[in-house]
Amino acid sequence: MEKVCSVCGCVFEAKRSTAKYCSNRCRQRAFNYGKPVVPDGPPSLGGPATFDECVDALNEAIAVANRFGQLANTAPRKLRPGFLRISDGLVYLIKKEGWL
Ligand SMILES: [Zn+2]
Repeated sequence: MEKVCSVCGCVFEAKRSTAKYCSNRCRQRAFNYGKPVVPDGPPSLGGPATFDECVDALNEAIAVANRFGQLANTAPRKLRPGFLRISDGLVYLIKKEGWL
């Protein structure tokens, strides 16, 4: 679903209905401004990563792979082979770990 990032105001494709930020950068920025990221407390910055943080990171990696996959068809021709390798490589690694 499309949501508006509460930090930078951009429209982004949210995986979860509770998503508030378009990126880790904005999530971090919101935290720095003193706004809690999750209703039950601030993120565990510096501490052990939560399962949700790991899932977020994986979803971002998959989104990046998809983005490069799209760019492999639409970018200037010189860049396409490299972008395809980045996309395929990321997907390969994520699949290899059994996470896709
Ligand atoms: Zn944002």
